Amino acid sequence: MINKQPILYLVVPCYNEEEIIEISIQTLNEKLCNLISSNKIDSKSKVIFVNDGSKDKTLNLLKIHKTKNMEILCLSTNKGHQNALLAGLNYAKDKCDCVISLDCDLQDDINLIGKMIEQFSNGFEVVYGVRNDRSEDSLFKAYSAIVFYKMMKFLGVDIVYNHADYRLLSNRVLGHLLDFSEVNLFLRGIIPLLGFKSCKLYYKRNARIAGVSKYPFFKMLSFAIDGITSFSVKPLRILTVLGGIISLFSLLIGIWALVIYFRGGAISGWTSMVVPMYFLGGIQILGLGILGEYIGKIYKEVKKRPLYFVDEVIK
Ligand code: UDP
Ligand code: MG
Repeated sequence: MINKQPILYLVVPCYNEEEIIEISIQTLNEKLCNLISSNKIDSKSKVIFVNDGSKDKTLNLLKIHKTKNMEILCLSTNKGHQNALLAGLNYAKDKCDCVISLDCDLQDDINLIGKMIEQFSNGFEVVYGVRNDRSEDSLFKAYSAIVFYKMMKFLGVDIVYNHADYRLLSNRVLGHLLDFSEVNLFLRGIIPLLGFKSCKLYYKRNARIAGVSKYPFFKMLSFAIDGITSFSVKPLRILTVLGGIISLFSLLIGIWALVIYFRGGAISGWTSMVVPMYFLGGIQILGLGILGEYIGKIYKEVKKRPLYFVDEVIK
């Protein structure tokens, strides 16, 4: 049990969110003030908006509507949601007792914040916000998400079903998380690896009130591929097994072809040649692609390039 009220930092990445940022600031500020006045959190608690190199008026609006409970972390350019989140978490480390990450489009139910804090006070160091409803998603997004989670599970990656990046972490867990020096950091895969006492809280995710999703199809696909290849080498194993099966099959076909040849049978048309040729060609290129994904990951890890640069911090 923690006796004093915890200092809470809310980390909110935002990229080109001019349509919504003002409402977002107001809503989160109000929430924070309510929690402070009801003695749930310490008055030193803050909302940290991470401006991920927005090209629209987001930064101006953040500055105009800035409140005293709020700080703005500006990245030098757009580095993507995961890196922006990481920048915010790094900034929050050791300044607070616990941190909650959430999106600035307010799709995540902010009423869960109070409940997360309660669970933190009950001794849970990781509290996952889990969606129990996908009715607000497009059919495509809902189904692709199901395929993604099922595939991760099949590949042996332990991620929390229907949990994205809405979660509370204690400062201690945050410290351990930041010890991972991976460049290919897939946050929602790493946190379950850490262990510690954790629990799940369920909520219904709302639709965006304004603006559009910054995760179009190809970005989502690339995020899924990154997640899988950062956490599982099973695709390489599948490739080996597939290669083995196809080779065996080709051997049988070869024997069959030789038998026909020695029997003096006529050469049957080109279909039996062309079909396996394309099929094997496809499998080979796919195999090279999968290998390439892993080599690309090693390449990035070896270079150890910084994931983001902080341009300025507005307190
Ligand atoms: N975001 C970001 N950098 C990016 C893309 C998105 O900081 O390059 C932020 C965005 O402003 C939002 C959050 O990440 O607060 C989640 O993005 P979005 O709502 O577009 O994703 P979705 O909810 O559609 O998956
Ligand atoms: Mg969103």
